[in-house]
Amino acid sequence: MARDGWFGRRSQAQKNLEQVPEGLWTKCPECSAILFAPELEKNLKVCPRCGHHYRLNWQERLDITVDSGTFVEFDGGVTSVDPLGFPDYESKLEKGRRNTGLEESIVTGRAAIGGCDTVIGIADFAFIGGSMASATGEKIVRAIERAVELGLPVVLITASGGARMFEGLLALMQMAKTAAACARLKSAGLPYIVVFTDPTMAGVHASYASIGDIIISEPKALVGLAGQRVAAQAQVAKVPANFQRAEFQLEHGMIDMIVPRRELRDTLGKILKWSTSEVPVGR
Ligand SMILES: [Zn+2]
Repeated sequence: MARDGWFGRRSQAQKNLEQVPEGLWTKCPECSAILFAPELEKNLKVCPRCGHHYRLNWQERLDITVDSGTFVEFDGGVTSVDPLGFPDYESKLEKGRRNTGLEESIVTGRAAIGGCDTVIGIADFAFIGGSMASATGEKIVRAIERAVELGLPVVLITASGGARMFEGLLALMQMAKTAAACARLKSAGLPYIVVFTDPTMAGVHASYASIGDIIISEPKALVGLAGQRVAAQAQVAKVPANFQRAEFQLEHGMIDMIVPRRELRDTLGKILKWSTSEVPVGR
């Protein structure tokens, strides 16, 4: 029960808030504004007051990114096992599956964006922090190989804390494996576009995520190898307040552009059109 206000009485506003069904209101973690959930949904889960971008699940991300009804999933049945017999890993996998309805932390497939046919991958942070396991790496590599076969560009939308520690070296190995697949895509002359969402860190940032031909980020996404706390503990230099945020990375040339969520679909469509259109001979 809410505590009485300053003058020993609850304000009318407090009383009104208490009568609202739970879940209809949410507090912005950035500016503390109280937001009406359906309005927030309509605004693509971006705070109308401060522009804070809430995390999206893979389905929400898919809906706002690709042309309606065009998505066809690849390899939905590829799933992780527990190769090291790591304590509690099986139950964490189960929870990840329940949270997302996916078998792994990334969904891959083929879709159109702005009318351009493309291979797409979308990570979901709600599946064990979007971490990269053997099955994640396998799905990314298969998607890229499919793109090479079909002659299509690749768009990967990242959200990950890094490699999945429960699979040890097998997870770390996916860094090299996915990066090698990206090199094959490059050799085939096909565009590779990456979109960082909050957070894109560690082993994922240090492999397939940071080697896109064009790298886009959502505003204020945490992006980098190690976070602010780890860097501060290393005490190599004074850590600025916006360290490892998208704006900091843009300033330092690590990403190409920051694009607000409501402009992302159009921006991707334009880039895909531009990067896949044929250059007339002789120009
Ligand atoms: Zn806000």
